Amino acid sequence: MCGIIGIYGNPEAARMAALGMFAEQHRGQESCGLAVSDGKVIHLYKSMGLVKEVFTDEVLKTLPGYIAVGHVRYPTKGAATKFNTQPHLVETLFGPSYALASNGDLVNYDQIRARLEAENVYFNSDNDGELLVKYLAWQIIAKNKDVVEAIRCLMKDIKGAYSCVFCTRKELYMFRDPLSIRPMIWGKNINGDVVVASESCVLDILDVNGRSEVPAAGIIEVNADGVKVIGNNPAQYRQQNHHSYCVFEHIYFSRPDSYHFGENVFEVREDIGRKLAEQDKGLEADCVVPVPDSANFMAVGYSAASGIPLSLGLIRNHYIGRTFIKPEQTIRDESVRQKFNVLPNFFKGKKVVLVDDSIVRGTTIRKIVRMIKLAGAEEIHLRIGSPAICYSCYYGIDTPHREELAANRYSLEEIKERIGVNSLKYLDMNSLRECLKEPDEYCYACFDGKYPLEKE
Ligand code: SF4
Repeated sequence: MCGIIGIYGNPEAARMAALGMFAEQHRGQESCGLAVSDGKVIHLYKSMGLVKEVFTDEVLKTLPGYIAVGHVRYPTKGAATKFNTQPHLVETLFGPSYALASNGDLVNYDQIRARLEAENVYFNSDNDGELLVKYLAWQIIAKNKDVVEAIRCLMKDIKGAYSCVFCTRKELYMFRDPLSIRPMIWGKNINGDVVVASESCVLDILDVNGRSEVPAAGIIEVNADGVKVIGNNPAQYRQQNHHSYCVFEHIYFSRPDSYHFGENVFEVREDIGRKLAEQDKGLEADCVVPVPDSANFMAVGYSAASGIPLSLGLIRNHYIGRTFIKPEQTIRDESVRQKFNVLPNFFKGKKVVLVDDSIVRGTTIRKIVRMIKLAGAEEIHLRIGSPAICYSCYYGIDTPHREELAANRYSLEEIKERIGVNSLKYLDMNSLRECLKEPDEYCYACFDGKYPLEKE
């Protein structure tokens, strides 16, 4: 999971992009970068760290221009290093320059890289963004394709999830994989500046009013002549004839104030909470407590449907990153202790319905339950707003080893015992589907193992 942004038309494109990247910082906290074109040169700056640490006023002054592509990174393909940080830039001395940032993961990375290397294309990183930009540059420079043709070839050859922003010195392009696995939304602000981002909350921050999703297998070109929505590549689109939106974007990844795949994220979460409550008829408890933040709206829905009062008994320190997206287990463990605390004298003697969005490895929730028990809770009934995660994701989420997943290692009863709760229930798959307007248009592979694209 990463966040991308593209800006066209604003003389302070770098500043605008940095603001937008800050709004999607939750999508990646290891590193970030910006490529900015002034029409003659594409300037690049990237570094490990958070947007507000990396893009200081001094740094932004070194990035003049009216076109920007930016990225916040959560490592999936390639380690957490500066080399693997996006955007990636291809520069030629007297010819064109290109920069690209992408969100997703490619399932035939190795094959495409081997093919390009055989054509004397060289790589500086293990990152899929570099593969995408070098593929395009190779098609344009070596094969004499124009940019749109090159993107269409990319869509034919490269398989996986990719929501991409790509710029030349004078143009911005946005394009998206035929299955539209990761979200991507664009629009214009009142000044006519074009903004594209992973989530609509970025467009809100940048005062973009009208907005649309980038179509499946679609290409949008922005230059001095305006915006050209080239639309989806019909041959490509017809091949699969449906989307595979990542359902986890609604469950966990996206901000609740975002809108994508035709849904308000917060409403899907509220519906999930209601469904959890319907599965729980007759359960007596004193309060419903969410694990903040992604389960907040699920707890709101649960409370509304059950009549059990909602209480914000757990407090989250917002200056610590998301625990799930920290790459090392040791760092994850340390983060959990620093991230959550209980309200003083709140849990003593209470029967608690604790709502969380998912169980991946089970490390975070076990520590939280221990905290609540130490605070004196009499009973804890854990409700999970997704089905059990039994399979790894190959489309942008770093769960490479199935053996790391709690539901793959233990039975429901064993997980309940290990976490230390009185009862444990997951949302069932049918209920999850009922929370979505177009349930057949989603990927659920981490729950059912039915991958829309097999790893090659
Ligand atoms: S496997 Fe899971 S996390 Fe990955 S795209 Fe599908 S639903 Fe999303």
